[in-house]
Amino acid sequence: LPALALEALSLIEGAHGEAWCVGGCVRDALIDRPVHDVDIATSLPWTAVQRVFAAAGWGTVETGTAHGTLTVVKDGEPFEITTYRCDGAYSDGRHPDAITIASSIEEDLQRRDFTVNALAYHPERGLIDPYGGATDLERGVIRCVGDPSTRFTEDALRILRACRFASQLGFAIDGPTFNAMMASKHLLRKISGERVYRELERFVCGDYVHDALMGCVDVLAFVLPELVSMKGCEQVTKYHIYDVLEHTAWVVQHTPPEPLQRWSALFHDMGKPAAAFFEEREGERVEHFYGHAAVSVTLAEGIMRRLPFPAWLRRDVPVIVRVHDDVVPPEPRAVRRALNRLGGRTDLFEALCDIKRADALSQAPFCAPRADTAEELRRIMREIVAEGDAFTVKQLAINGNDIMGLGVKAGPAVGQLLEQCLGAVIDGTVPNEREALLAFADDRRT
Ligand code: ATP
Ligand code: MG
Repeated sequence: LPALALEALSLIEGAHGEAWCVGGCVRDALIDRPVHDVDIATSLPWTAVQRVFAAAGWGTVETGTAHGTLTVVKDGEPFEITTYRCDGAYSDGRHPDAITIASSIEEDLQRRDFTVNALAYHPERGLIDPYGGATDLERGVIRCVGDPSTRFTEDALRILRACRFASQLGFAIDGPTFNAMMASKHLLRKISGERVYRELERFVCGDYVHDALMGCVDVLAFVLPELVSMKGCEQVTKYHIYDVLEHTAWVVQHTPPEPLQRWSALFHDMGKPAAAFFEEREGERVEHFYGHAAVSVTLAEGIMRRLPFPAWLRRDVPVIVRVHDDVVPPEPRAVRRALNRLGGRTDLFEALCDIKRADALSQAPFCAPRADTAEELRRIMREIVAEGDAFTVKQLAINGNDIMGLGVKAGPAVGQLLEQCLGAVIDGTVPNEREALLAFADDRRT
C-alpha cells in the first residue's frame, strides 16, 4: 500500500477512529495488479474526518458528503474516505432511498457489489473477507455478495460492472450471478446514459475483452442491440474462420487498450450482417459484404448519439470505421494519399494501422502476414512525416501569398494551384520544397 494511504489510516486512528483500506485497491493488490486509487472506510463521520485531515495540513474536498464520503488530498494524491454505511431500500433501481451509518466494517462490506470487492485490509489487523472474496480472486470468479437478483434489482448498474470486471480481470461470472444478470438486464433502462457509457468504455478497454464479450454479449445486447445480429453471422469467405461477433471480439482484443482503437474495433464490422449477400461462383456459394463499412459507420453513429460519447470519439471513430478496409499498399505514395484522406491526422493513421493489424490477426492464418504490412505502413508513415512531407495544403512549403507572388490574382485559382502542388507532392513527382514547388506552380498558372 502507498505510504500516504498508511499515513491516512494512522491519522484516523490517532483521532480514535477505526479505518480500513477497502474495495478495488485490496482486490488489485491481492492479484498483483497495479493499485490506482485507495479507498478508505472509517467509523468516523465525515465531519470528524475533515477536522482531522485539515489539522494535519491535507486538502479536503466535499465530493460526496451526502453519502458520507470526503476526499482528502496530499501531494496531489487523492484518497476517498467513506464512513461505514449500509444502504437502505432501493426503490428506483439506481440509488438507495436513504443511507444509514453502520457500526462496523463487516456491515459496510455487506452493501458492496461483488465478493472480490467486499474485502477490507489493515496493515496490522490483516484481511477481512466475510464472503470468500479471496477464494473467488484465486478461482477468478465474479460473484455477488448476497442474493444476485436482489442486488441487481437494487442497482442495475452492477450488471454492467460485472461485465466490466470480467473484461478487466479476465474472470468468469458465477452461474447464479450470470443468470440473475440475464433476468434483470431490462432494469438497465433505468440507468443514466453517462453511467452506462462509463462502464462500457472500461469494458471495451479491458485486457480480457475477447472472453468477456463472448460471455456477456446477451447481457450487453440490452444496451448495444446491434451486437445481436453479429452473433452467429457466419462469414462464408476464405478469409474468415469466425462469425462476425467472434472476429470482432478478437480484433478488439488485439488493439491497444485505448478508447479510439477499441471502439473503432468494436464497430468496424457491425454493418456486415446487413450488407451480407451470397453469390454463386464456379458452382460455389461465396459470401460478400460490399459496402459494409458504410453501414458500420451508420450503426456506430447511432450508438454514439444514443450514449453520451465524448465529441472527439463521435468525430474520429466513424473516420476509422469508414476506411478500415481500404487497401493501402505499403509505399510512400499510397501512405501520403491515405494521410490526405485522413486530413493529415497522423494519430488517426496510427489507429488505422492498429485496426488493420488486429484485423489481419483475427482472420484465417494465411491472412496473418498482413499484420506485418500494417506495421510496414506505420513505419513508412513515420518516415515520411520525419522527412517533412506534405499531406495537406497547409503543410506545403509554399502558401497562397507565394502563388500570388507569381502573378496569380487572388481568387479560386490560388487554391486550385495549391491543390495541384499538393497532388504532385503526394504523387512524389515534386519534393515539398519551396523552389521546386514555385517552379511547378509557375509552369501551370494561366
Ligand atoms: P476500479 O478499479 O475501477 O476503481 P473499484 O472496485 O475500486 O474498481 P469503484 O467504482 O471505485 O470500483 O468502487 C469502489 C468500491 O465501492 C467497490 O470495490 C465496491 O466495493 C463498492 N461499489 C462501487 N460501486 C458499487 C455499486 N454500484 N454497488 C455496490 N458496491 C459498489
Ligand atoms: Mg476504485
